[in-house]
Amino acid sequence: MALDRYQEMRDFQKTPEPGTDEPPGISEHEAAGRPRFVVQEHHATALHWDFRLERDGVLVSWAVPKGIPPDPRVNHLAVHTEDHPLSYFDFEGDIPAGEYGGGRVMLWDRGTYETEKWSEREVMVVLHGERASGKHVLFRTGGKNWMIHRMDPPVDPTRELVPDDLRPVEATAVDRLPDGEGWLCSVAWGGDEVVVAVEGGRATAWGGGRAGRGDGAADLGRWPVLRRFAAAQSATQLVVAGQLVPAPAGPGHVLLVDDLLFLDGHRTTSLGFGDRRHLLGALDLEGTARDDEAPGWKTAPVYDDGAAVLDAARAQGWRGVLCRRAESPWDEPPLLVPA
Ligand code: MN
Repeated sequence: MALDRYQEMRDFQKTPEPGTDEPPGISEHEAAGRPRFVVQEHHATALHWDFRLERDGVLVSWAVPKGIPPDPRVNHLAVHTEDHPLSYFDFEGDIPAGEYGGGRVMLWDRGTYETEKWSEREVMVVLHGERASGKHVLFRTGGKNWMIHRMDPPVDPTRELVPDDLRPVEATAVDRLPDGEGWLCSVAWGGDEVVVAVEGGRATAWGGGRAGRGDGAADLGRWPVLRRFAAAQSATQLVVAGQLVPAPAGPGHVLLVDDLLFLDGHRTTSLGFGDRRHLLGALDLEGTARDDEAPGWKTAPVYDDGAAVLDAARAQGWRGVLCRRAESPWDEPPLLVPA
């Protein structure tokens, strides 16, 4: 039976997932030639998106660690998993820790699909969903491992790939606050400056100065908070700049996000700092590294009044004040006034 494996892997006294006791059979949707698909975002030990296609009365399933690719230039791994019952189509909930797939499951998208090809090695479908649409192919590369490739152009034809060439911009040290209007000032906390790219719920980070390892990406093992930060962004692509400072209590670091360099397919680096901060603020980035912890990441505030920030930095022993013109693009170095 197609669902034996689904049943064997779960303890239905403990998991809220649906059982397999519904009468098997083809749904009205499949019978009418409009079979359904669902994508469930699953915050298990490792974040993934479960992609399920209704076929022959079950949900044929793949776990896609980085989600449905929005761009034909980037293919994503898709690991074939056990067939699920049709009743799983609407499932959302918290699978208890310690059970198979423990973690939160949320609906990410649903819709119908057309089949262009279906074999043991290749499945080509056209999705009609809200977030996932267009022609996709899954092709088997070995064992349970498949790849998922978007065949259509991106929904947004001006979409750019997530950049990997952005690095922290070194501040220019000056001995006094800049004169005049139009400056936005923030605290230089004295931590490690990083640029963090997030795609498919995964982080890549690059440091400057002490944090960096040449041009290569930084070792995330040093900053576990970045993994949690990335998973919390769901399928949103972004690149942010920020500072990693030691957590005020306990081990680990807090990520203080200063700037937004890329958002969902588009660089923001040529916008003025004020406009970038406006976009950043709308993302409302704040979260905890663990449920019982102080904030693991938050958006660092900016102020018009540099003198007040400098007074606070002197009183608190912070490194100083960073000032940027509201119109300045990303690559214009900020001014650093040491405390
Ligand atoms: Mn899953």
